[in-house]
Amino acid sequence: MVIDVQEFNQININFETKTAVIGTGNRLGEIYDELNKFGYLISAGECINVGLGGHATGGGFGWTGRKYGLATDNIVSAEMVTANGTFISPINLTHHSDLFFAIRGAGNAGYGIITSLTLKIYPVQPIVTSIKISYLPEQVELAFIILDKVAKNLNENLSGYMELRSKHNNTYPFQINAAYLGIEEEARSAVKELIELSNPAYIKFEETTWLGIVDSYPIFTRSPSKITSYTIPPSGFSQEAIRVLINFINNFECDTVTLFDLYSSDVISRISINDSAFIHRNIFAVMELITHLGAYSKDAQTKCVERHLQFSKEFQAKYTSYFSYQDYIDRDLSDWLTRYYGPHVPRLIEIKKKYDPNNLFNWKQSIPTKLP
Ligand SMILES: Cc1cc2nc3c(=O)[nH]c(=O)nc-3n(C[C@H](O)[C@H](O)[C@H](O)COP(=O)(O)OP(=O)(O)OC[C@H]3O[C@@H](n4cnc5c(N)ncnc54)[C@H](O)[C@@H]3O)c2cc1C
Repeated sequence: MVIDVQEFNQININFETKTAVIGTGNRLGEIYDELNKFGYLISAGECINVGLGGHATGGGFGWTGRKYGLATDNIVSAEMVTANGTFISPINLTHHSDLFFAIRGAGNAGYGIITSLTLKIYPVQPIVTSIKISYLPEQVELAFIILDKVAKNLNENLSGYMELRSKHNNTYPFQINAAYLGIEEEARSAVKELIELSNPAYIKFEETTWLGIVDSYPIFTRSPSKITSYTIPPSGFSQEAIRVLINFINNFECDTVTLFDLYSSDVISRISINDSAFIHRNIFAVMELITHLGAYSKDAQTKCVERHLQFSKEFQAKYTSYFSYQDYIDRDLSDWLTRYYGPHVPRLIEIKKKYDPNNLFNWKQSIPTKLP
């Protein structure tokens, strides 16, 4: 079953409550553009062509994540059409609170068709500073270690992601791309310790606007790729883990990149894991290993995926947490229910039975009506 949600495209701001009712068919770029006209933003992902419906209900980390939290934590209310055609509104802390628990973290996993989300909105800073910090191949290991060390104390106005690529064809295989919600002088001071300790090869600060930051993110078109994800505990990576990862990336014959969303955020970690279905809270980062397959023959693609999955399985077993981020869904992931939702699985199944007893919304990784 495919449901086209594009017509759920309203964006209505309530200036008094500092919230916006946003149709789930909007893409993040459309939302950022519209809210910016009124001097506001929502806290959500970096990629502008991601749809709100799947994104915000599974997590949603981006340029303001360390300051204003995940999109899912900013949901104050929702509306949904259930399997039997009932329209439920509102879904919030006092009405259908069980469903409100489930849709914040597992709302994209088969409870019903969410038509709108009411999200908190925040004022846009007049100046936002873009920060790019890059490292040479021989600096990558130290950069990781220093980043682990300083992440906990990084100013919350700073959010972003890191990118690790093969040293072949990349002068700077490790890059930090961040946005600082404020002027350059403050941005410089926010990363001073990181820079002093890790001595990057390339540093660039540039004052811009909020939309300047939003538009700086590469636009992705849908092309075949294999993606796996893991959460990294607050202690970060061991030196051995960093070496193993770098070694894999440098020697893997397929086009691969690793992205890290840098969490290390009080705003995310101070929310109890029992508050919603989203469990990945007290972590250093979410790591995403992506192998792009578009340039290869079918046979070569199969080999790339096999090798990717073999590495991924071993790496997660040895060096990361047991858990994976449900917004980077991976159809090959074993024990995915626990890896995505941890201790909440029985509760999520009970809620599913209540709102979709006949399991109408059902696919390989939707919440089942009984334990597998
Ligand atoms: C290029 C790219 C960049 C990304 N960048 C980020 C990022 O910066 N930060 C981050 O946290 N994540 C990021 N993601 C992950 C992204 O959040 C997830 O892929 C998310 O599920 C996308 O939602 P969608 O609605 O666009 O996708 P879809 O593929 O349409 O939907 C994903 C799932 O959500 C369900 N769903 C969608 N809409 C609804 C609805 N209205 N009601 C109920 N269920 C619904 C679908 O059934 C499906 O199971 C990125 C993904 C991509 C492909």
